[in-house]
Amino acid sequence: MGPVHLTLDEVRDLARRCLEANGCDSTNARAVAATIKRAEADGSAGHGLLRLPGYVASLRSGKVRGDARPRVSQSAPSVLRVDGHGGFAPLALKRMHDDLVALTRSQGIAAAALVDTYHFAALWIEVEALAREGLLAIAVTASKPAVAPTGATRAFYGTNPIAFGWPRPGEDPMVFDLATAAMARGEIMIAARDGHEVPEGVGLGADGRPTTNPARILDGVQLPFGGYKGAALALMVELLAGGLIGEAFSYEAGTNDNKDGGPARGGELIIALDPAAFGDAEGWQGHAERFFGELESFEGTRLPGDRRYENRARTPEEGIDVPETLHRQIMSLCDG
Ligand code: NDP
Repeated sequence: MGPVHLTLDEVRDLARRCLEANGCDSTNARAVAATIKRAEADGSAGHGLLRLPGYVASLRSGKVRGDARPRVSQSAPSVLRVDGHGGFAPLALKRMHDDLVALTRSQGIAAAALVDTYHFAALWIEVEALAREGLLAIAVTASKPAVAPTGATRAFYGTNPIAFGWPRPGEDPMVFDLATAAMARGEIMIAARDGHEVPEGVGLGADGRPTTNPARILDGVQLPFGGYKGAALALMVELLAGGLIGEAFSYEAGTNDNKDGGPARGGELIIALDPAAFGDAEGWQGHAERFFGELESFEGTRLPGDRRYENRARTPEEGIDVPETLHRQIMSLCDG
């Protein structure tokens, strides 16, 4: 049997039904399902329905609260603390958004520290939402150990993504969102499922030797992108999303996690900046637009985020194809 074709609304409804059948209340299920739908709409399949079995596993094991009620408080004049109440990140991020926008506009720069939350999604979602408000945004989160520090053959860092958003007049924001691992774990999972090799440099097998076999890497360890440079960025993410805000480092999350296949408890740091507060209130946007114009005049170049925006324009009409095995697995999980 071939892949199962779904509209984006069917993706959302399926995710929601499955989450609710497994202990999520409708507020949390709606937030997670919206995140899954957005990933599928943008062609970020590694954070779409593929993650649903992991979300369900964490509800079933009792690790994640399906009835979480995140709370936002202020810990300093320009710092918000978002207590995820032991739930999945999408609802906490939704609760945070308006407060962070307002604080950034009043202070020029503001940050939000998300704690006691379980992040299993792409970071471009929160960063793009802030850029659509006319703000610059940076987000980082750590996760379970999956990546070896340079020179080692054992996992220590998470795949530790960094996302950055820049608002553009009359255009979609420029957003990049990249794992500091050479390849995102979700992409390696997809390669393993579909029987594809991955490029050299993505990871090592359990024997510590380089391999292009994704299943062996999943049993072994991933590598950072760009050698020690990517490893340094992964280190920075650990300190910002763990040490700074009082949440677990990836290695601690790995020890504390019940290994149910879902996300580990962790933190996220989001920093937002209001360009109007940085001294070139009139000119910054036109100046940056000229920069983007120069950049795009180079043949073969595109802006980060363009692939997603192109997918987003197409998928509402075309829908998406879900591998039959994944669809069958999700349908069986929907029975609760
Ligand atoms: P990719 O390597 O596919 O892409 C990284 C970035 O580079 C994207 O913004 C992409 O834009 C851009 N890009 C790719 N090709 C080009 C190009 N030719 N020219 C210009 N820009 C380009 O992403 P990753 O595999 O590293 O992504 C990891 C994802 O996993 C992220 O969304 C991250 O947030 C998520 N993640 C989440 C974790 C969690 O704990 N919640 C942990 C680790 C990762 P475009 O999208 O347009 O291709």
